Formats: sequence, structure tokens, C-alpha cells
Amino acid sequence: MAKPRRKPKRSGTDPADLLLNLPDSEFVDALRRVFAERSPWPGTESSQEAHYVLAVASRVLPEDDEPPLRTGEGWELSAVGYPDPAHYDGDPLGVRGSICQSGRCTTCRTEVHTTSKHGLCPVCGAESYGT
Ligand SMILES: [Zn+2]
Repeated sequence: MAKPRRKPKRSGTDPADLLLNLPDSEFVDALRRVFAERSPWPGTESSQEAHYVLAVASRVLPEDDEPPLRTGEGWELSAVGYPDPAHYDGDPLGVRGSICQSGRCTTCRTEVHTTSKHGLCPVCGAESYGT
């Protein structure tokens, strides 16, 4: 899917522009804080648990001599986890860097990508470890 082109920045107050200009570790932390306060279905908290998670959808593109992928073919989804502050002197940003660590949640088995090796699963909150 082609990315829609964004118009040039007009002000420093557009929330999307603010997020676009953050390094990955700060981008993930900003969304972590928003997701902790914002419910996808307000008013249903007494009957169900639901929360937002950031995810990455990816697929490997075929070589030049291979047939092109069909729409919807080959996609994998992984959740973007949060650095575990317990392993980074209480720092919720953990290691500053890209979302390059990959692992699985030790409890719910969700595939988790993080900026730091020691992460927290965004689905259930358990530990994950990336390599
Ligand atoms: Zn989990």
C-alpha cells in the first residue's frame, strides 16, 4: 500500500506532525501514555477489558523473479511493546533507538517488537525479551 503523501508542515501544533518528528522511543512512550488513559469503548469497563495497542504490519516483498504478492497476502502483525522500566533504572523510554527488538510475550505469546531488549507486552503487561 502506498503511503499517502503528507502536506508540508504548517504549524508545530498538529498532533500528527508532533508524533512524526519524535524518535521511535519517544513516539512509543507518547502512545503508551495516551493508551493508558484512553479507552476504545468507554463505559464498558465493568463488563470487558479493552485497550489500544500499537502494532506493526509487515510482509517480505518477493524477489524480482517471483510473482507479486496479492492484496492481503503475507502480512504479519506484531504488537509494539514498551521498555520494562525495571531494567532501565526506572526509565520508561529504555534504550533510545528504533523498534528493532523482536520476541514473544512470556505469558500470552503475542509477538512483540520493542526498542529495548527487556520489554512489557502491550496486550497483557507481562515481560517480553527481544533479540
Ligand atoms: Zn502478553
